[in-house]
Amino acid sequence: MSALVAAADHVVSFHYTLKNAEGQILDASGEAPMDYLHGHDNIVPGLERALTGHGVGASLQVEVPPADAYGEKSGRADQKVPLSSFGGGTPQVGDQFAMRDPRGRPQPLWVTAVDAKNVHITFDHPLAGVTLFFEVAIAAIRPATSEEVAHGHPHGPDGHHHH
Ligand code: ZN
Repeated sequence: MSALVAAADHVVSFHYTLKNAEGQILDASGEAPMDYLHGHDNIVPGLERALTGHGVGASLQVEVPPADAYGEKSGRADQKVPLSSFGGGTPQVGDQFAMRDPRGRPQPLWVTAVDAKNVHITFDHPLAGVTLFFEVAIAAIRPATSEEVAHGHPHGPDGHHHH
């Protein structure tokens, strides 16, 4: 049996801490590592590329510029959407919604502010324009099942469930 490495159509489990350039922790895996399906755009491209070819036990420090993560900020001003169009609920700053673009594809948007009449939204990911600093440790690697490859994401040990 040869040692597996992070490669296309493998489920890779890893612990991570994500910081910005100022050293603030932006995100981290919990007690359990995070699983992703390699080669299916489950994680930001710069991090996936850095993990490629590494095996279980590997620890990496990876700096990912915005272009290989959540993109640059668009520079577009926030848009205002009437509060009434949110169906009676009051969105909170940081909430994520999806809107259909003209071709019918879902486009994510985020709430940046809420006032008495309007919800201010942006199409920029909250981490757009941010260089990401990952500390990563690979905990496990296994070949994906054909079902996982077809779905484009890993399934948990309890079988099929979607996040
Ligand atoms: Zn699935």
